Amino acid sequence: MKFLCVECDQQMAFAERQVPGDGTLAATFKCPKCGRVVAMLTNPMETQLVSSLGVEIGGRTVPADAFETVGKIVGTGGPAWSSDAQERLARVPSFVRGMVKKIYGDYARERGIIEITPAVMDTARAELGLEGM
Ligand SMILES: [Zn+2]
Repeated sequence: MKFLCVECDQQMAFAERQVPGDGTLAATFKCPKCGRVVAMLTNPMETQLVSSLGVEIGGRTVPADAFETVGKIVGTGGPAWSSDAQERLARVPSFVRGMVKKIYGDYARERGIIEITPAVMDTARAELGLEGM
């Protein structure tokens, strides 16, 4: 799977991939030219789907909201993470990061939130009683 930065017509570089053990797959792609980052997050079912389909979106321009495109490709989609939220997530200790990501992801999905932002994380944390996560 490849992402193309629409602004720069540059192939984005694969930055991170995490498979924390629950089947969740998260990957970020960064544009080498403008530094723009897109993230892909799938739940276990979607990860299997994407793997089995061998989804190929490289070689053509991905619309500005690449995440939405991925959501359509994988069917049910998942909430996006804003860059601020990703930065915050990156500060979570790695051994619980997958779980934390899943908790926020489930929270967002249940409420129809399409993008997780620090504000969403704050609300979720307060509602779920996840102080310190
Ligand atoms: Zn760019």
